[in-house]
Amino acid sequence: MKYLSTRGHDARPEFCDILLGGLAPDGGLYLPEQYPQVSRAELDGWRTLPYAELAFRILSKFVTDIPAEDLRAICQRTYTAEVYRHARPGDDASDITPVHWLEPGRLALLELSNGPTLAFKDMAMQLLGNLFEYVLERRGEEINILGATSGDTGSAAEYAMRGKHGVRVFMLSPHGRMSAFQRAQMYSLQDENIYNIAVTGMFDDAQDIVKAVSNDAAFKARYKIGAVNSINWARVAAQIVYYFKGYFGATASNDETVDFCVPSGNFGNICAGHIARSMGLPIGRLVLATNENDVLDEFFRSGVYRPRRTAETHVTSSPSMDISKASNFERFVFDLVGRDPRVVAGLWKDVDGGGAFDLSQTPYYARLPEFGFVSGRSTHADRLATIRKVWEQYSVMIDTHTADGMKVALEHRSGERPMVVLETALPVKFAETLREALGRDPERPAELEGIEALPQRVAVMAPDVEAVKRFIVEHVGA
Ligand SMILES: *Cc1c(COP(=O)(O)O)cnc(C)c1O
Repeated sequence: MKYLSTRGHDARPEFCDILLGGLAPDGGLYLPEQYPQVSRAELDGWRTLPYAELAFRILSKFVTDIPAEDLRAICQRTYTAEVYRHARPGDDASDITPVHWLEPGRLALLELSNGPTLAFKDMAMQLLGNLFEYVLERRGEEINILGATSGDTGSAAEYAMRGKHGVRVFMLSPHGRMSAFQRAQMYSLQDENIYNIAVTGMFDDAQDIVKAVSNDAAFKARYKIGAVNSINWARVAAQIVYYFKGYFGATASNDETVDFCVPSGNFGNICAGHIARSMGLPIGRLVLATNENDVLDEFFRSGVYRPRRTAETHVTSSPSMDISKASNFERFVFDLVGRDPRVVAGLWKDVDGGGAFDLSQTPYYARLPEFGFVSGRSTHADRLATIRKVWEQYSVMIDTHTADGMKVALEHRSGERPMVVLETALPVKFAETLREALGRDPERPAELEGIEALPQRVAVMAPDVEAVKRFIVEHVGA
């Protein structure tokens, strides 16, 4: 399988060539040259496979430069019931992503948040950790991952990379601005290859430092600086698997069709759903849910894609969906415009210049229904009401992001197909809003009791690019 850039660069790298990198040289995103098609016979054969084997079969279609037995071993190491151990009572952790019915045959949660950091990013990031270690060892290379986080992504990256040979993680976070639980999750890691840096500033300051360091080409090359951001193709590829697993879990035969609802921010999760559907998985609708940061809902309703400025971005109680632009959206638009890279390059010339584009009067927009997308948005009040409703009707507690999904899913139920809402985090991560909605605390997994009292390992420093560079140099020692 070869990969192309959405903006038309003529290189055709393979999976391992793009694993450790980010954007294509022309600023585009990587996608497979074509989506592999899954035959009915194959789908029938996959229905009862355990998660790790299913992951291997699906990923084999995208990863043709790792020997099959190695890839299978990586999938088996990654997707275990020990790693994904936070299944709801009554559900089987060895399913990795169990389907939890609220109304049997009609409405379900797909549990994607049973990994170490209790959010769906573990699904892809844990695989990435094992792939990085494998490829770096094969090449005799090292990488120093530099990132900024306000919560979910940073902790998922740290839990995926801890103890991995050839990998160090330098993760910047805004000092004193994360919850005590989030701080404890990250800072209590004692692994030698994990470095937490708390910057006395806001998340944007931390993000700016990461950009400044990455833009210093000489420093970046000398200290082998890399990233694990949401445009990483391997993360999207890993996420395709649970759409298949969720489909099998929600149906009795491959004649049925399922709708999925996806709480969305950077369009990474739902992009994987779009690809699964393009491969032939019988998905009816892909329902995209946003919070108040509704740049994607606006596009699907109007054909206008208008990224927001930082000052226009709302701080909400579903913070992992607080985005101003959706970094993976270009992948879908590439398919929508018939995979014409000149069209994509033209549209993103406007977007990268701070502008917007409007497809409403084009044949592309008229084709949207073929892709199955519909959308909706949710507000803080909607989240509270939905959390209460799901608790009262089904005795199930959901987190704020999943509540955004549930709110929009209920508006788009077909009555014919089951609606499966992707559960992107566990409620304990957002206890404050859960208390506001229900007047009670969410349950905490036993092993995380008292985590706030564990010793923490974090360097506090001013938001200063040079200070961060010095810290990296001291700890890389090259
Ligand atoms: C990252 C995240 C999202 C958004 O996912 P995208 O792939 O960026 O669309 C939703 N919910 C939670 C809890 C997340 O961590």
